[in-house]
Order: sequence, then structure tokens, then C-alpha cells
Amino acid sequence: MPLVYDPPVFRPPSEADSLILQVTIGCSHNRCTFCAMYRGKRFRTKTDEEIRSDVAEARAQYGANVRKVFLADGDAMCLSFHRLAAILELLNEAFPRLARVGIYANARDILSKTDDDLAALRRGKLKIVYLGLESGDDVTLAAVNKGVTVAEMVTAGTRARAAGLATSVMVLVGLAGVARSLVHARLSAEAINAMGASYTALLTYTPVDGTPLFGAIEHGAFAVPSPRESLVEIREFVSAVTIDTYFTCNHASNYLPLVGRLPRARTEMLACLDAALAGSIPLKPEFLRGL
Ligand code: SF4
Repeated sequence: MPLVYDPPVFRPPSEADSLILQVTIGCSHNRCTFCAMYRGKRFRTKTDEEIRSDVAEARAQYGANVRKVFLADGDAMCLSFHRLAAILELLNEAFPRLARVGIYANARDILSKTDDDLAALRRGKLKIVYLGLESGDDVTLAAVNKGVTVAEMVTAGTRARAAGLATSVMVLVGLAGVARSLVHARLSAEAINAMGASYTALLTYTPVDGTPLFGAIEHGAFAVPSPRESLVEIREFVSAVTIDTYFTCNHASNYLPLVGRLPRARTEMLACLDAALAGSIPLKPEFLRGL
């Protein structure tokens, strides 16, 4: 039976060359007011039999030399430690040259595992978790119904790092609206600092029709920062990051691409942002932005 995906399937840009294996369908939370990624999917976990069949089919289709695998969908880390360990064992058997497995995780998915569990998953070659912090501001997290607190995010990120996992942490520019834009930027940088994120990715909030936050915008209850206000927010964030982290702000949703290691590249990044704010560097036009 061919490897069948239940669309839509999302993966981080850095997993573009990975084999995608759907071990869960949808997102177990699925209630963030800004997110439409899995709204059309009823959450479920795939059965052991389905996963075994998918791995066997992937091996038949792609051969034994697969080196990178990404476990989808939205928060595949919600599977129990025993199920995740069994999946990693299957993957290591099917692909002897496997180098790394990546996964999307919610903070609570990580917090539900012990330190020993996380270390064992790391030994099974789970090497990177992608964590949607979205904001380091508890007011914003509560407003968008993220379902976790900043403290939980920080603990989850810190524990993952302590277990030897790399963490790629996403922050959504504009998610706090105009009113809390700079607070959101400062507190998000503080959360990144506190959890020691290996990678930090800034994406820019883009309203999606059909989501509660889109409705709030239409009713005038939420004001999305302008492109210029977004740059000021990013400037505040970049200024406040103090840890060594690989920073990317080059997602299709961003108005101005920035990539580099912070804090080393801070001066250049701030100069670039200032030039854009002064009008010397053009911003990406709206029609070229993507989610
Ligand atoms: S942002 Fe993440 S946790 Fe929230 S609904 Fe979307 S996929 Fe689920």
C-alpha cells in the first residue's frame, strides 16, 4: 500500500529534505485563535499498525538511505514516551543511516515526559523539537488561547535542551496586536533567553479567514501592527536577545529577511532594520507574503 498522507501536511522549512511521517493527524489542542493549520482535521493518533505500514512503505519507496525524518502532524510529541520510543526504534531499523528525527511539540507534550524519557528519545535520534512559543507574554498567550503559560514553555524548552535536544522556537510578530507589541517583543526575547533556544524563528502573523482572531480584526477588537510597526517590534526583540541562538526571520510571512547568529550579528541586523525603517530597504509587498 503506498505511503498515504492525510492533507494538509506542514513541516518546518529546515525539514524540506526530510521524510515526513504522519504519526498523528491534526493538533491535539487545535484551539489557538490565530491558527488554521489543522482546523479541518479531527485529531487522532495513528495506530501502531498504520505506523508500521507507513515505515515499511517509506523504506520500499525511498530505500534504506533516508537520513532525516520529520514526525507530523501538529504536536506528534503528544504521543506517550513508549509509543515515541517504539517509532524511533522502527525508524532506526528501517533506515540504518538515520541521522536525525525532528518533531513539532507543545510545551505540555515535553513536560509530560521525564528527563530520562527525553534522554532516551535523544538516544533514539530524536534530535530537534520545534516549539511554538508564539509569545513570551502571558497576557497574549491567554488571549490567543494557547493553553500553556510562558513558565511552562520555558521549563519545557530548558528540559529539552538539558536532555541534549536542539530546540527551534517560533515567535509570532504581531500576535499581541498594536497595543502590546513592544511588551510582547521584550518578554518573548526574555523567554528565548531563559530557555536557551538553539534556534529562534520569527514569523509574522498573517490573519486567516475563518479563525476567531480574524473575526476580532473584522470587528475592530484587534489591531494588527503595520509593516513598519512589525519592524519596530522585531527591532525590540533583536535588541533584547542575549543568548547565543541561530536567528531566522526569513519566513515567507516576514516583511524583511534577517538571518544570523545572535547576539553576534545584532549590530548588522539593527542597522538593516533601521535602514528599512528609514525607507532605504524595500519591504516585501503584501502580495508576495505567504503563511
Ligand atoms: S498554533 Fe500549534 S498548538 Fe495552536 S492550534 Fe495551531 S498547531 Fe495547534
